[in-house]
Amino acid sequence: MTELKQNGFVCEYEMGVFMRMYFMRDEEAKVFTDFSKRDGKAFCECRIDFKGMVYKGTAEISDIYGDYLSEKVCRNTVIMSFCNAAENIRRVPRPWGVMSGIRPTKNIRTLTERGYSEEEIYSVLENVYGVSPEKCSLAFETYKNEREILKRHDKKSVGIYIGIPFCPTRCSYCSFISAPMRVSKRYIPDYIRLLCKEIEKTGGIMKRLGVYPESIYIGGGTPTSLSANELEEIFDALEKCFDMSRRAEYTLEAGRPDTITMDKLECAKRYKIDRISINPQTMHGETLERIGRKHKPEEIGESFEMARAAGFKIINMDLIAGLPGESFDMFRESLDRVCGFGSENITVHTMYIKRASEMAKKDNDLINAGHINRMLVYTQERMKELGYAPYYMYRQKNTAGNLENVGYAKKGTESVYNIKIMEEVQSIIALGGGGSSKLICGDRLERVFNFKDASEYIRRFDEIIERKEKSYNILKEFFKEGAAL
Ligand code: SF4
Repeated sequence: MTELKQNGFVCEYEMGVFMRMYFMRDEEAKVFTDFSKRDGKAFCECRIDFKGMVYKGTAEISDIYGDYLSEKVCRNTVIMSFCNAAENIRRVPRPWGVMSGIRPTKNIRTLTERGYSEEEIYSVLENVYGVSPEKCSLAFETYKNEREILKRHDKKSVGIYIGIPFCPTRCSYCSFISAPMRVSKRYIPDYIRLLCKEIEKTGGIMKRLGVYPESIYIGGGTPTSLSANELEEIFDALEKCFDMSRRAEYTLEAGRPDTITMDKLECAKRYKIDRISINPQTMHGETLERIGRKHKPEEIGESFEMARAAGFKIINMDLIAGLPGESFDMFRESLDRVCGFGSENITVHTMYIKRASEMAKKDNDLINAGHINRMLVYTQERMKELGYAPYYMYRQKNTAGNLENVGYAKKGTESVYNIKIMEEVQSIIALGGGGSSKLICGDRLERVFNFKDASEYIRRFDEIIERKEKSYNILKEFFKEGAAL
């Protein structure tokens, strides 16, 4: 339990993010920061009382980057002084410096739109945030790639997310409310029936507003936990209720290889789904067993071949860096084997420990961020060698070292949905369990939540429909304002 007292400048939330990087949840530490500003510079001293010892650190940042960044200069000076003091207790690599936001590329875009030059932005990232040169380059490269896609944005388009909250088994690191099939199977018929109703309702709303889906993403959970017939009912409802004529991308997440069969793939192809995600996470059998997945590494290759045989030209594969018990060499081997399949997209996530997950309950060690960062740097280099470019990225709270998740793609195969949801430039309308709609109009963002769990979704479906009406009213108002959806 850490205690925080701040003088001169208060930033409790951001300090909390960084204190969690240095201290385990059962450790007691007292942190005190004393901030001042003089001669155009922000200055802060930090003192940490920990296990009977006192640790001190200071930081200073010049406030020369204009009014927009002035407050960030103050906040980051405070956080840096804390990190400098905490480094005396334990070393935690911070390649992202004191950046606490989850969207580094959005920062770059905002600064660009405010007239900062590329050189100035590099200087801000390095001096105000303390970002390492490697991460600056990664963020810039990603920003430049996604910018090309964002240029083609149509204000009348939205992204659609369909949530299928069922999985064959539950992975140990997951706290998503996705009950294993043996428990949740009985909900499937009602779930699909109501989801189709929600699709019909949403399709009607979209037609009234004159908007169309630019992308549809069927995620979860593991959508391919459903049978081919069950999937077909959903695809069919989407086909009938939405204007599909201008759809640029249609993705099916087939996360777990043991759920992929030829009849499901062929069914998806019949409905013109053009992008599929097969997520090995690791190519090591012992890790798969440890994290509660029931498939074998060989099944990953078999599923990939099956998807190719069914005609899928864009296949994404997800890996996780920092899975429990995995060394750098094990990760490298997984990445190299996945590269060998020749998928068009490869997404590498940093191990994400959610508080409610099984692993968080068991594992009290601070994850070695340096070890994971080495995996990410290797990925960055390997992807470049093989002709993949980073095209979207985000960081998640509570990931080891606040490191990043990056989607890499071969040119022309980038996912529009992934970029737009991360950059928050397009409204995403979520249907089904586990999704939340993000309705966007310029700088305004409204969230409308659906229930996460299948049984609650069924039980409280009337509320879902009421919330859809609420979404409709928000969108209608956004349209009146004439800004982007
Ligand atoms: S496949 Fe994904 S959603 Fe399902 S249990 Fe594993 S991590 Fe959670």
